[in-house]
Amino acid sequence: MNHNLYSLLATGFPADLAAPCLILPDGRVWTYGDVERASARMANMIVALGLKPGDRVAAQVEKTPEALVLYLASLRAGTVFLPLNPAYQRHELEHFLKDATPGLFVCRPQMRALADELATQAGVAHVLELDDAGHGSLIAAATPQADEFATLERGSRDLAAILYTSGTTGRSKGAMLSHGNLAHNARTLHEYWAFRPGDVLLHMLPTFHVHGLFVACHTALLNGSAMFFEPKFDAARAMKLLPESTVMMGVPTYYVRLLLDPGFGRETCRNMRLFISGSAPLLKETFDEFRARTGHTILERYGMTEGGMFTSNPYDGERRGGTVGFPLPGTAIRIVGAGGTAVKTGEIGSIQVKGDNVFLGYWNMPEKTREEFTADGFFITGDMGSWDADFYITINGRSKDLVITGGLNVYPKEIEELIDALPGVAESAVIGLPHADFGEAVTAVVVRQKNASGKALTEAGIIAAVKGRLANFKVPKWVYLVDELPRNAMGKVQKNLLRQEYSPRPKP
Ligand code: AMP
Repeated sequence: MNHNLYSLLATGFPADLAAPCLILPDGRVWTYGDVERASARMANMIVALGLKPGDRVAAQVEKTPEALVLYLASLRAGTVFLPLNPAYQRHELEHFLKDATPGLFVCRPQMRALADELATQAGVAHVLELDDAGHGSLIAAATPQADEFATLERGSRDLAAILYTSGTTGRSKGAMLSHGNLAHNARTLHEYWAFRPGDVLLHMLPTFHVHGLFVACHTALLNGSAMFFEPKFDAARAMKLLPESTVMMGVPTYYVRLLLDPGFGRETCRNMRLFISGSAPLLKETFDEFRARTGHTILERYGMTEGGMFTSNPYDGERRGGTVGFPLPGTAIRIVGAGGTAVKTGEIGSIQVKGDNVFLGYWNMPEKTREEFTADGFFITGDMGSWDADFYITINGRSKDLVITGGLNVYPKEIEELIDALPGVAESAVIGLPHADFGEAVTAVVVRQKNASGKALTEAGIIAAVKGRLANFKVPKWVYLVDELPRNAMGKVQKNLLRQEYSPRPKP
């Protein structure tokens, strides 16, 4: 049986290939036929360059239809796709190229000189360009190729992609994802989220990451749906496109920003059937306000690069704010305490997962891979979580974010929730900073609400407000008031940057 993911996706393409696949900001449309022919030409080109199945194709390009086509072409040719964040600079690129040794590196023209230098060092045979408008030597090389390509047969454990993790602690690791991994997750999500004929996806996520490239594109393609394919999130564009869309996937910040527009409400969402959120925690406050304003209940799900999606709130049934729902069909989840035994309801433990969607391991890192799997084959996600009485899962943070103060464990989320609920607070991040007596001191970095009225927030005021509501050891010893938290492209708060910035402790 052919397990090539492209072949699976193509089973969902519309019978009439003239149907729209990608609708661009300037109104241009790529039909399914266009995508199929363009990916055939590019797959022919990959083969013509001499790349063999299993060879890597790295791409550090902006989100364009041509970039998506390059990914699909790589699937079809049996090569392994390596999408790279355009923000990466010399140091990161050098590591990726040396580590993954791709046969082809597609870069933006402005990075060409650096790409050539690093490619020579790493022994990368071919460098081609794709600019932000979808032109360049990549397209020039593909254009003369034939419009047809017989998608290569692949086994379910053959690699389809390597995605480097964001590497907020230590060296970025290349997660190896097989055709089988991606196909399993695509099928599961397509069904669980009840994709149906006529769905139109608003796609504003980046395509170098699991959320935008896999979760969003795979479900839409498998459904033969049109996508509004926008280069990035823009609240004004979203306001324009939502009335013509039925599904949106976003990181929490997108929903926060939409709510800032006073015109956003029921009318904007009149055709929508589903808003999905993930990649970072969605505040309960955002979840509640969104429901009040639009009548829609955001569906929050949880997953990671190393296996796509693991849990989801139900499509039918109660979507519970502050939780990430239930294990998805085909994914086994257990939450274990320090001794390796299953936690009780409400207790926090380490989340472990197993399933056909879970990755094959880290590229070139057999040791690291072994460390991250248990003897019985569960992947240790590094996330801490708990079950409630109805088996909804809540994420309580990363195990690396755990603060250990005076030998006691503190889960930042518990404190963040209390602080977030104080008047005048927009959001907060709790970290541990080195402290002579306690090892680590619980420290809160707090963002003031814009235009907050009433008493100004102060360090002492925040500490006083949470005292008495938390055990003393959990009460922040230090509080910093800031205008904004540092976030990466996926909306995750970069606690590592906060730790660097406030350590050693500056004068408040
Ligand atoms: P990435 O591999 O970049 O997708 O990051 C995955 C990490 O994001 C997970 O291990 C979680 O720590 C976090 N994450 C993803 N979805 C959620 C969510 N719904 N709530 C809280 N954290 C999340």
